[in-house]
Amino acid sequence: MAATIIDGKAISAKRRARIAERVTELKARGISPGLAVVIVGEDPASQVYVRNKVKACEETGVFSAKIVLPAETTQEALLAVVEELNGREDINGILVQFPLPAHLDEDAVIEAIRADKDVDGFHPESIGRLVVGKETFVSCTPAGVMVLLEESGVDLNGKDVVVIGRSNNVGKPVGLLALAQNATVTFCHSRTTDLPDHVRAADVVIVAVGRPEMVKGDWIKEGAVVIDVGINRLEDGRLVGDVEFETARQRASAITPVPGGVGPMTIAMLLENTLTATVRQNERKQGGLR
Ligand code: NDP
Repeated sequence: MAATIIDGKAISAKRRARIAERVTELKARGISPGLAVVIVGEDPASQVYVRNKVKACEETGVFSAKIVLPAETTQEALLAVVEELNGREDINGILVQFPLPAHLDEDAVIEAIRADKDVDGFHPESIGRLVVGKETFVSCTPAGVMVLLEESGVDLNGKDVVVIGRSNNVGKPVGLLALAQNATVTFCHSRTTDLPDHVRAADVVIVAVGRPEMVKGDWIKEGAVVIDVGINRLEDGRLVGDVEFETARQRASAITPVPGGVGPMTIAMLLENTLTATVRQNERKQGGLR
């Protein structure tokens, strides 16, 4: 039986509609959520991502400040911009679009962002809090994966979850989130031997590698759930994931398509994190706001 297609577009639209309602509620109480998006240089893909983020803010009523800096911006100048945003009352969340030009130190920029404005969830404090199971900002793509699973009725309790990829922004956090939901988690990566065997044993496979269709459909256990984070542009212009979709969907019980699966969730989760940041900062300021 062919798998249910997990519709990230529809799930994201539902979340964004709810976010717009929450923004209206907050504004009625005199609180206006604000997100700063900083872009350095003219990387075309980054420009598209930033444009989409600003548009999503406009559509949900979140105030956005787009800060465009030239490619030759120095580390000191960039850190000064972050510092200024840290202090701005109208900015609750700060996102610096990566990759930065090669002369800039991304880690130092992440660490300069005030932890309570770290809506990208990349700050070491956010990641540390995730590891110890404390309230934190979860980075947007892994958070989006968990929403897709939840909305698809997938209970991870006791399940064997295989995560392929161990990056700090996707693989590691998504594995930790699955662990927090009582899954038995295996992390696979470029040095893993017998990758197909790991995948064959998995109830849920989450793939975040960046290699077109590397996970073959016949590796998927009958009835498994497949979440494909990968986005790969082929030479013929087609966009494909890290999983061989057509064959995998014949075996899986549910699967995300590319595009239209994980991708649309990322911006929705960024907006959610911005709202969370807003509420937390106001709670701290006024006490008791929910
Ligand atoms: P990284 O390049 O940071 O990490 C890739 C991971 O894949 C590494 O851990 C690497 O292992 C592992 N890997 C590489 N080759 C193999 C292999 N042959 N077998 C098993 N594992 C392998 O990528 P990201 O995590 O940032 O992104 C992964 C994919 O997800 C990309 O396609 C990216 O475009 C996409 N993405 C999509 C988003 C969305 O919104 N949908 C958001 C973010 C990313 P090792 O650590 O050993 O090198």
